[in-house]
Amino acid sequence: MSDTLFTKIINREIEADIVYEDDTVLAFRDIAPQAPLHVLVIPKKPIEMLARAGEDDRDVLGHMMLTAAKVAADEGYGDAFRLAMNNGEKAGQSVFHMHLHVLAGRAFEWPPG
Ligand code: AMP
Repeated sequence: MSDTLFTKIINREIEADIVYEDDTVLAFRDIAPQAPLHVLVIPKKPIEMLARAGEDDRDVLGHMMLTAAKVAADEGYGDAFRLAMNNGEKAGQSVFHMHLHVLAGRAFEWPPG
């Protein structure tokens, strides 16, 4: 997989507003926020999309979920947040480095659009 925008953010070649980082994941504010809180949680391993993740990525995937909950809580939205992951272009994915959207701070529709 060639370097995506998000790999460049991990490598500090592109600036981002980073809210959490450890050896496995990075979380930063979305540049075009769709809610008062809109953070992206990405694995440092460049997995293209969820459908390309394998059994050996179980821990990374779990860690992304737990990080999303931690970020929401740290930002004051621990009780009400929405997670979204677009898998594939037809589902709305535009950056092909798997990422979890963490959204909070407004009402959300169900079912999602
Ligand atoms: P998706 O459409 O699910 O692939 O989500 C990609 C997200 O990346 C969008 O919500 C964009 O607003 C966001 N995005 C694109 N470029 C940047 C950037 N340089 N820094 C932060 N977020 C970005």
